[in-house]
Amino acid sequence: MAIIAPGSTIGILGGGQLGRMTAMAARTMGYRVHVLDPDAECAASAVADRVVAAKFDDADAAADLASHCDVVTLEIEQIGVAALEAATRHAPLRPGAAILSVVQDRGRQKRWLAQNGFPIGEYRDVASAEEIDSATRELGPLIVKACHGGYDGRSQVRVDDVSQAREAWAALAARPSVAERVLDLESELSVLVARRPSGEIVVFPPAFNVHERQILAWSVLPAPLPPRITQQAVEIARGIAESFRLEGILAVEMFVLRDGTLLVNELAPRPHNSFHETEVACSTSQFEQLVRAVCDLPLGDTRALRPGAIFNLFGDLWLNGPPRFEAALAQPGVRLHLYGKRGPRPGRKMGHLSAIGDTPEDALARVRAAAIAIQ
Ligand code: ADP
Ligand code: MG
Repeated sequence: MAIIAPGSTIGILGGGQLGRMTAMAARTMGYRVHVLDPDAECAASAVADRVVAAKFDDADAAADLASHCDVVTLEIEQIGVAALEAATRHAPLRPGAAILSVVQDRGRQKRWLAQNGFPIGEYRDVASAEEIDSATRELGPLIVKACHGGYDGRSQVRVDDVSQAREAWAALAARPSVAERVLDLESELSVLVARRPSGEIVVFPPAFNVHERQILAWSVLPAPLPPRITQQAVEIARGIAESFRLEGILAVEMFVLRDGTLLVNELAPRPHNSFHETEVACSTSQFEQLVRAVCDLPLGDTRALRPGAIFNLFGDLWLNGPPRFEAALAQPGVRLHLYGKRGPRPGRKMGHLSAIGDTPEDALARVRAAAIAIQ
């Protein structure tokens, strides 16, 4: 298989912060970058050679993007099937349509995981208020998640008892959903695996993640968890990437239950918020790894050279004027990453702080001090 050499053009479906940071890594390695995004002034536009401004289901636009690129990848999995097929006709799409069609639909994703022997929590497919009602009777309190279109906890509704079934179904706009049993979580972790078309696979050390209101608040790598758990997590992620014959990178979000059981939460075949630490902790960032993987270049070293932590910065911070960046940057080992988004809105990811430390706890203490100082 031919490599896609530096100097070639990489297309990215999606121009948010993940596309922007991928584009920056690609440019460091001498690639040209074209981006497709509904917003011509998207976060990635500042570092792209070309922006195709179009919706993610616009097949003509996807064909236009791909026809000027040597390979196409993505930073968001909710791309219309026709657009993915159109792109594939003009350039290799990595990751390919097979993994994307499974991951795009939460129900299909869960069935695939269960059928391929990967551990997941108990759930039911639901397509009516009555089915949510009976799922609650069988499983107890639920988180009902629409099969299509949610992220950062959106399109999800908690149902504590049967009286809430009808309301929940209305809140989900009567969309087919999965109803998951609310799990008693000890902790959450994620694993990032990279595979190139010629078959080489590497895995980053797992990250330890803390969510607030269902959105990632902070993350630290390597996860300070027992090796028994992190080794098992790495094996699961590697197994999933192999089963899909992944071309690109894949983040596997996992739950650790109080009794130590490890379950797969969900899959994201793209860069992931919980691996932003790789930019400061590892010799290869997740973004460079994606570039290497889709170009079929030798994959980079995934070891953590030192622990790293990140803390997300949401639009809320801007409500009372600009954040105190200088106070955050005065903390030792801390870096600022802003995505160049113009409109700060509550809950919108605007950037993150990162820090390195001698131990995961140390990195976390530093980034947390910066996150307090910035307010
Ligand atoms: P998203 O696609 O928005 O990331 P997730 O399914 O990963 O949605 O859910 C977001 C977060 O909500 C999880 O990381 C976890 O903290 C919490 N959560 C989701 N499902 C469950 C569950 N079944 N039990 C307990 N907590 C859950
Ligand atoms: Mg998630």
